Amino acid sequence: MEIKKVGVLGAGTMGSGIAQVSVEAGYIVVLVDVVPEILEKAVNGLNKAWAKAVEKGKVTAETLANNNALLISSTDINDFKDVDIVIEAIVENIDIKKKIQKQLGEICKADAILVTNTSALSITEIAAATNRPDKVLGMHFFNPVVMMKLVEVIPGAVTTDDAVQAVIELAKKIGKEPVLAKESPGFIVNRILVPYINEAANVFQEGIASAAEIDKAMKLGAGMPMGPLALADMVGIDIVLAVCESFVKEFGDSKYRPSLAFKQKVRAGHLGIKTGKGFYDYSK
Ligand code: NAD
Repeated sequence: MEIKKVGVLGAGTMGSGIAQVSVEAGYIVVLVDVVPEILEKAVNGLNKAWAKAVEKGKVTAETLANNNALLISSTDINDFKDVDIVIEAIVENIDIKKKIQKQLGEICKADAILVTNTSALSITEIAAATNRPDKVLGMHFFNPVVMMKLVEVIPGAVTTDDAVQAVIELAKKIGKEPVLAKESPGFIVNRILVPYINEAANVFQEGIASAAEIDKAMKLGAGMPMGPLALADMVGIDIVLAVCESFVKEFGDSKYRPSLAFKQKVRAGHLGIKTGKGFYDYSK
């Protein structure tokens, strides 16, 4: 099937980026969030990014007008009724994702594909909650979406090859490099990356070094492009904690036990860049 109209559910860190790259690739995008303020912030952010690109001479005023025309924002999930695919990027919680995917199945046309941008949850479990498990799969983007080239494509137990191919094509058309992964907690990247970030948080929690020292050490000593705790702040500490918790639940192995530092910061509402404070303070 040819994808022409894309629905994006959730206008937070990931959803706004996914909407941006999809519009820039020429797709009509319906961006939905339940929180009007978040939706407004996302749309304003996209308009600002495009206006800046015009100022810098990277795109024409015509492209800007075209982008604005392609983006439809809404707080009503029923506006997905005629989209060809919904990319769900809401909170990393299996029960909420299952509930919302079930609802999407009831709203969307029969041949629409439903993908989830989950960081680590079971695609098959999410798919089974819908009326079309054969058309549900994982499409895992990376943060910041505009810059990161990779998209992991993860079929569930009964996903059809047609649905997988349609998502691979979509990923390519929006300028990404798709990599196919079998369903398993955290797929490829997060299975390797999140335990590393978690260990950095343990080093912080044990008072071995400050956040800045840990990040400096990993950049200069291990050649990382950014430090693990700055990365946790960028990803969202709530998301990293949720991934660790799903690893513990799925693998039953205590080696994935989340750092206390994550729990304490999430309880305090210090989720990283998105709330202005995490391992670092972004309010100044
Ligand atoms: P976020 O908290 O920035 O945004 C989530 C958005 O979903 C919020 O704006 C919220 O209002 C909205 N939302 C929640 N419930 C909703 C509902 N029922 N209907 C509509 N909107 C709803 O989170 P995020 O960082 O963008 O993460 C979203 C998903 O993407 C998660 O599954 C996460 O694991 C995954 N992900 C995150 C990253 C990352 O680096 N942050 C990377 C890859 C994947």
